[in-house]
Amino acid sequence: MSNPTQAGFTIDRGITVQSFGSSSNGNAFLVTSGAQALMVDCGIGIRTIQRGLKDRGMTLNDVSALCITHEHSDHICTLPRVLREDLCVVATKGTAARSIGRHANRETVRAFVPITIGEITIWPLKVSHDAAEPTGFMFEFKDGSRATILTDLGVFTDDLAPFLQASDFIILEANYDEHMLLTGPYPRYLQERVRSRKGHLANSACGAALASVLSVENRTPTVRLAHMSEHNNVNWLAEQTVTQHLTEVDLELDVRVLPRKEIFEPWVSTRSAAGKEFVLSTEAERRGQLALEM
Ligand SMILES: [Zn+2]
Ligand SMILES: [Zn+2]
Repeated sequence: MSNPTQAGFTIDRGITVQSFGSSSNGNAFLVTSGAQALMVDCGIGIRTIQRGLKDRGMTLNDVSALCITHEHSDHICTLPRVLREDLCVVATKGTAARSIGRHANRETVRAFVPITIGEITIWPLKVSHDAAEPTGFMFEFKDGSRATILTDLGVFTDDLAPFLQASDFIILEANYDEHMLLTGPYPRYLQERVRSRKGHLANSACGAALASVLSVENRTPTVRLAHMSEHNNVNWLAEQTVTQHLTEVDLELDVRVLPRKEIFEPWVSTRSAAGKEFVLSTEAERRGQLALEM
């Protein structure tokens, strides 16, 4: 795990969450805390995953755990390339049964029962979706910050609200625009599947959920919209719809759509001592950074 630099120090990657790509075609996220790195899903090409890790000074061998949300191919298609004996897979029993086969190194989790791996506490969050036992995840970090990743949910259920309220960073699905879905190329049965309680979250449902949940606590997390449909959504419409809902409750948040296939800039916890300088190669640099902040 540790990644010694020339000077012999460990790279402190800070507390970050980064999308390597998110859409109906594929999803993968990187979560780091200090020298610890874990991934959420691996449903994009191996080269993009490797490039994203390399940009951060890592290889796949530096990733100690993989959290799998569910067994659909847009979340696990690169699993055979990513899985190695010492990679700990975090998944529910139902998801594990349909994804990792006999892979022994696993943490079988249950919805809303947290586990801690290294510095990161992981909360599996139950979602309504047409898979065996699907989840989202909230990550709790040692600096007190929290980040939630929720995709593939047909409906935003009340038991998810406290997790969004507690989060500094939220990745939430805005899969489709209702009008585009109904007038788009999908056959009727597929439209109904997407719109069902076990399908995906519409832009308007995403915006309404964020508005109702965040206005209560007057929270102002950074929000990224994820898992966009290729045929039934466009970025500006998703952003506009969600922002409208937030404006109605006087919330002004940093809301952006995650690129479908590109690696996006990481969210960095501003609570962490390293601040924005999340890649510090030597202890001296770290001390300099801390001195600047004091
Ligand atoms: Zn799915
Ligand atoms: Zn999906």
